[in-house]
Amino acid sequence: MSRRLHRARTAARCLAMFAALGITTCLGQVKFGAVDQARLLAADLQPDQWLTTGGGFGETHYSGLQAINASNVAHLGYAWGFETGTQRGLEATPIVVDGVMYTSGVAGRVYALNAATGQLLWRFEPKIDPRVYRSVCCDSVNRGVAAWQGRIYVAALDGVLYALDAASGKAVWSADTIIDRSRGYASTGAPQVADKVVVIGNAGGEYDTRGYISAYDLRTGRLAWRFFTVPRGPGQPQESAALKKAAKTWARNSRWDIGGGGNVWGDMAYDPRLELLYVATGNGAPYGHTRRSPGGGDNLFVASVLAIHPDSGRLAWYYQETPGDQWDYDSDAPMVLTTLKIKGRARNVLLHAPKNGFFYIFDRETGQLLSAKAYVPVTWARGVDLNTGRPRKNPLAAYGAKPASFAPGNWGGHDWNAMAFDPQTQLVYLPTTTGDLTFENTADATLHRGLLNMEIEVAAPPSGAAPAAQASYLSAWDPIAQRRVWQVPTAQFWDRAGVLATAGGLVFQGSADGHFRAFDARTGKVLDDIDTGTSMVAAPMSYSIQGVQYVAIMAAWGGAGWWIPNPAFAAFNYGNEGRILVFRLGGRRTPMPRPLPPIETVPVPPPQTASATEVARGEALFDSDCAVCHINLPRGGTPDLTRLPAAIHASFDKIVLGGLLKDDGMPQWDDVLSRDDAHAIHAYLIKASWEAYRAQQKTKAK
Ligand code: CA
Repeated sequence: MSRRLHRARTAARCLAMFAALGITTCLGQVKFGAVDQARLLAADLQPDQWLTTGGGFGETHYSGLQAINASNVAHLGYAWGFETGTQRGLEATPIVVDGVMYTSGVAGRVYALNAATGQLLWRFEPKIDPRVYRSVCCDSVNRGVAAWQGRIYVAALDGVLYALDAASGKAVWSADTIIDRSRGYASTGAPQVADKVVVIGNAGGEYDTRGYISAYDLRTGRLAWRFFTVPRGPGQPQESAALKKAAKTWARNSRWDIGGGGNVWGDMAYDPRLELLYVATGNGAPYGHTRRSPGGGDNLFVASVLAIHPDSGRLAWYYQETPGDQWDYDSDAPMVLTTLKIKGRARNVLLHAPKNGFFYIFDRETGQLLSAKAYVPVTWARGVDLNTGRPRKNPLAAYGAKPASFAPGNWGGHDWNAMAFDPQTQLVYLPTTTGDLTFENTADATLHRGLLNMEIEVAAPPSGAAPAAQASYLSAWDPIAQRRVWQVPTAQFWDRAGVLATAGGLVFQGSADGHFRAFDARTGKVLDDIDTGTSMVAAPMSYSIQGVQYVAIMAAWGGAGWWIPNPAFAAFNYGNEGRILVFRLGGRRTPMPRPLPPIETVPVPPPQTASATEVARGEALFDSDCAVCHINLPRGGTPDLTRLPAAIHASFDKIVLGGLLKDDGMPQWDDVLSRDDAHAIHAYLIKASWEAYRAQQKTKAK
């Protein structure tokens, strides 16, 4: 083919591809992923775009579009859908830049789609180090991508950060952000661009990790700086002045072997005018305060909000929301940057509603705490003293060898799911969850390297403790008055998907029950309800192409508690095939997934040949290493191991020790479990299978 003909054909193909995007020029003039500081600062003037997972620098999850509004939202219908081919949770909020949707899925897969038609432009599948599946407490999720000057940034589950060419999806550079692969690190968060660097943290506060964030040069991928969120043990120099100070808030004999936690796995934010990067940190590890730091101490910087200078990685200010955390109160909930008039004065604020149940307002320049009020029933503290900035902790919520109850439970009053701030109503819309929980320390305090090390048990409440109702809501919160304006219960406890607010006076939220709903922003009245058959946890977003407003959401059930089957959830009845759902006015009926076939019967298990002692040892191993994913109920997020077919029983060693299914998410365990250990676990499963089989036969006989 002549060069001229080739060029002409390429041009024709290119034009056909982009005509639907509303882009009429091509070849060198189409700019993919064209996001920069100037454009983001003017994001309010371009509501047709959605340039960061939170919709702009403020991360307000608010769209200025109003073509879809209270008067017509009942005509919302299906515009297009895209099937990801995955069955795990989808938590990302997509971004849309110049007609192209970029978003991430399971373990950090990335999709670029024509946002008007759903046509796939490219797909990126990172090769994951399968060892990481052993240390993901809360599903193989990813919370989104960042676009910057022609590149798309994503962190894969195994902590490798990728810079992708936005036009082709090809990796321009990659960086391994994990400092120690024998520890329980994983990455699930969206990278944050701040000035000249892209920043990423990691999860692992249930494992044996010391939290940190790493900043890489946007162009080259070179490590610019690293900020550890908790100190290391005595005898080792601390990496920063901030950590020298933090070290004084830890007992000398703290559980340094477990790492301390403070992981930054949630959404970050950046204020380009103040040139400050905001990160929030996770729970202390192990959970128990008496276990982690015997003798007490605040344990900086766990469960805190930090403001960091992105040029140097130096700490500007911090506020610890849960000093001496012992309730798994990650502060990783998304932060909203906006302006509020407080006591007659416009303040640049940071709004935050972390798991601990208090709604905080900070002056984001200085870190001054302006206000804090409980947004759900809270018992671990009786309010926050604005003069000292400290919570008035309730001694009855402190557990150790003896149990204690606390609210909210460790699921949090609000977790990672996006909240939205609507500048018209001046309200924050957020998913909230109530209820209490009881913890006590485990007797066992040995380190399990790379594995779970929470060192707590869920216990029965001590006598006299009044249980609080477990429920989830969509709540509208007035941040200035610090009071609830309305709340609507969701389908079930733990149904707490992310939120979008729009200038059309609407709040959108998906649900675990598979319904996508539009609410009146002022009253909470349901104005539209679309049954999709797919459970949702992610937040919707909105964009517009050639005058048509779209609302999009990534749909699949997942996150913490992802494996718990619940008949009220769509995933229980329709399975969990991931998809992107996009709606517009006058759209079609949403195609429903095929209902799942009836639950299969328990096959006859193999004969039990092991002793009762070996079975008991297997059960203990199963509880510590397997039960975080395998709940052994039909239609949970992982296979029910009491219903294994004979062929899988025969391949048990090959799967558990040999890694036969490691690319399907079942890790290889030969470096942790001996052959005898694997056989003991198998023996326990055979026992559990016989119990399930006999129960089934009994029911059949009736
Ligand atoms: Ca946690």
